[in-house]
Amino acid sequence: MHPLDNIYSCNLCQDLTKNRIQVVVGDGNLTPNILFIGEAPGAQEDIEGKPFVGRSGKILRNALSELKISDFYITNLVKCRPTNNRDPTSEESKNCFPYLKLQLKQLNPKIICTLGRHSTKKLLTASGIDMKTITAHRGTKIDISIDGVKYLLLPMYHPAATIYNQKLKENFISDLKKLSDIAGI
Ligand code: SF4
Repeated sequence: MHPLDNIYSCNLCQDLTKNRIQVVVGDGNLTPNILFIGEAPGAQEDIEGKPFVGRSGKILRNALSELKISDFYITNLVKCRPTNNRDPTSEESKNCFPYLKLQLKQLNPKIICTLGRHSTKKLLTASGIDMKTITAHRGTKIDISIDGVKYLLLPMYHPAATIYNQKLKENFISDLKKLSDIAGI
């Protein structure tokens, strides 16, 4: 059995386990150039079993399609939907982080792109780097090391943050273009 197979019956987070429809592990190319890491599944993701298929997911996927970025895998920091779309707790992030680390090893991406402050904070602190604000880190290339393996991190805003904020949307698109340049697309 692959270590990630255990995730489908995981019940470490009781509040999430009792309310979820399913565990949402990830979606995309299994040997990706880019790994996107969001926050947690929302309602539509919980129904479909795929990350980033709701409203903010469409913003991301449409932008990626326009920029012809197709070599990626998408997952979340926390794999089960928090009720009422609340933020994941630090305990839930901690519980689920070993699964994300397994995915990092398995996928071995060229670039990690964290979407929003939660996944950015988790990867930075795991690398011994202090989290400032997502605004301070977004669009900045950062060398990180998780379990002794080095990765290039490019944090970005979560697409949900861009829905009602034109300035953040412009930043989001410019960061995706930067990502495209770094990935050599
Ligand atoms: S969020 Fe992660 S650690 Fe928590 S129950 Fe779901 S799979 Fe398990």
